[in-house]
Amino acid sequence: MLNMLQSQTALPSHLHDPAEVLSWAQRCFPRDLVLASALGPQSIVALDLALRQGLRPNVVLLDTGLLFDQTLELADRLEQRFDIPIERVQPTLSLEDQAELHGDALWERDPAKCCELRKVGPLANRLSRASAWMTGLRRTGSLTRTDVESVEWDNVHGLVKVNPLAWWPRARVFQHLHENKLPYNPLLDEGYASVGCHPCTSPVRPGEDERAGRWRGRAKTECGIHHRQAAVQQAESLS
Ligand code: SF4
Repeated sequence: MLNMLQSQTALPSHLHDPAEVLSWAQRCFPRDLVLASALGPQSIVALDLALRQGLRPNVVLLDTGLLFDQTLELADRLEQRFDIPIERVQPTLSLEDQAELHGDALWERDPAKCCELRKVGPLANRLSRASAWMTGLRRTGSLTRTDVESVEWDNVHGLVKVNPLAWWPRARVFQHLHENKLPYNPLLDEGYASVGCHPCTSPVRPGEDERAGRWRGRAKTECGIHHRQAAVQQAESLS
C-alpha cells in the first residue's frame, strides 16, 4: 500500500478540511477502513462526518474490561443513532488471567504493560485486517499531539492513518456535537475531559490539558496506540 501511495499520490497531509480528508480516504480506502475509538467526542464527530459523505468505517471500541459503564452505554446509543455495529475488541487475557499472570491491579504498578496487554496488542491484531485506520486525534488535544497530520503513515501498523479532525479545536468539535444533537459520554459534563479506563481516568481542573486526567500523577500520557514520532518521521520522509 505504501508503494502504491508513493507512486500514485503523496499522502495529502496538506489537507486541513475534514471533508477533503474524508473524500480522499473514501477514494483510497472504500473498504476495511477502521475507526479505532474510545468514543470520545472527536471520534463521534469524525464518524458523523464520514457517514454523511458515504464513508462507512468499521468502528472498533477497545473494550479493556475496565471501561466506564457510561462508555459502554454510549456505544449502544451510537449504534442506534447511526444504525451501525460497533465492534468490541477484547484482550486475549481476561482480567482474572491477567491478575494471575501479572498480579492484581497491574495498571497501578505497570500501566505500560497493562495498556500493552489490553489496548496495544488487541488493536494491532485488529488492524492487521484493515486497509487503513482513522482516529479522532487533534493537534490541540494534548501537548504530545501538536504534530498530528490529517493523513500520516503509521509505520508501526504499516498503515495509512487518517485524522480528519487534526486541525479542529475542541470548541469546534463540541459545536458540531451539540448542533447535531449527537450522543456523547455524560462524564464529559461531570468534569472529565478525556475518558478511558476507570482506574486511570480522573476529572480535570480548569486550565489543565484535556488529557491531564489520564494516568494522573504518572509520566505516562498516552496508552501507546499512537506512535507520534515514528509517524511524523515517516510522513516527512514521504514529502
Ligand atoms: S488505561 Fe489503565 S486500566 Fe486501561 S489498559 Fe491502560 S493501564 Fe490498563
